[in-house]
Amino acid sequence: NSNRQDRDKESNVQVLLRCRPLTADEQWSNVPKVISCNEQKREVTVLQSLANKQIDRVFTFDKVFGPKAQQRSIYDQAIAPIVTEVLEGFNCTVFAYGQTGTGKTYTMEGGLRNKGADLPAEAGVIPRAVRQIFDMLEAQNADYSVKVTFLELYNEEITDLLAPEENAKSTEDRQKKPISLMEDGKGCVVVRGLEEEAVYSVNEIYTLLEQGAAKRRTADTLLNKHSSRSHSIFTITVHVKEAAVGDEELIKCGKLNLVDLAGSENISRSGAREGRAREAGEINKSLLTLGRVINALVEHSSHIPYRDSKLTRLLRESLGGKTKTCIIATISPSAHSLEETLSTLDYAFRAK
Ligand code: ADP
Ligand code: MG
Repeated sequence: NSNRQDRDKESNVQVLLRCRPLTADEQWSNVPKVISCNEQKREVTVLQSLANKQIDRVFTFDKVFGPKAQQRSIYDQAIAPIVTEVLEGFNCTVFAYGQTGTGKTYTMEGGLRNKGADLPAEAGVIPRAVRQIFDMLEAQNADYSVKVTFLELYNEEITDLLAPEENAKSTEDRQKKPISLMEDGKGCVVVRGLEEEAVYSVNEIYTLLEQGAAKRRTADTLLNKHSSRSHSIFTITVHVKEAAVGDEELIKCGKLNLVDLAGSENISRSGAREGRAREAGEINKSLLTLGRVINALVEHSSHIPYRDSKLTRLLRESLGGKTKTCIIATISPSAHSLEETLSTLDYAFRAK
């Protein structure tokens, strides 16, 4: 039944919407709120009045999380089922998409300090995913390995966020250490020269995340707005040894990509500014291509334009087919962000 198949395929791309609370500053200055979330109805309403007329717009998503939603509840409802798939040997990807300052990094990484044995309430998707992976693997009592890579994509160039510092004697060196993306004969993408770190416990993740964050901070001081213009990809690869059948050993391999995308404001403003057009074009290429790839996947198009950007080439094996994709679109409730919020809602809604 092709209808049934279509439905199954459709469910492989999930789009969630998360609205952050007003910040302390915004509360202080009495910034009006223009977003209202209805989690039960899975609806987001944008409140707009024009010429004394109230023209609200309503968007529906697969799930909606309002300003009070806890990190844990987002993880349990939306991400945990995806991680279960990874342990079954599938490749999956979670994206955070939205304007700078709306909570992409908060959602993916969360509060960066781990105080004790338990994950803090502010822990985001990355540490929670690693925790779930170790918990499930230990319960299975199988031989396994967990490896992670952490890279950044800026201007279509890849930088390794886990590479040891001695490789970067001067800031110039650090800037000039791009990693190359090669294709093997079978159309699979291989990243050359990327540091792959074996991980043995959840706590190690915080060391790696902090290492990455420190590198991005350095890059920020060298280049204004670097971090809001770059994508970061944290990839967890899991190998599980299955019970041997005769002489043959079966190894299941699954991959989880956790992607903190460049600020979406880089898309909407680029076209207008001539002088910066080329740089903006490069920054946007991956974000725009990602949108087209997801549209093509959702529409079951015969041509998926993976090859048009580094981001989509990198994630090719983890987008489409049997893989699960989850987009978390993040927005601010503030009236000051209204225009960007509408463009995020449109982008995310089109991906559905
Ligand atoms: P982005 O990565 O999209 O630029 P951040 O994750 O850095 O945005 O978030 C901007 C600020 O808002 C940070 O101070 C962050 O701690 C805070 N913040 C974002 N989302 C939430 C949330 N859901 N609850 C509480 N604080 C949040
Ligand atoms: Mg961020």
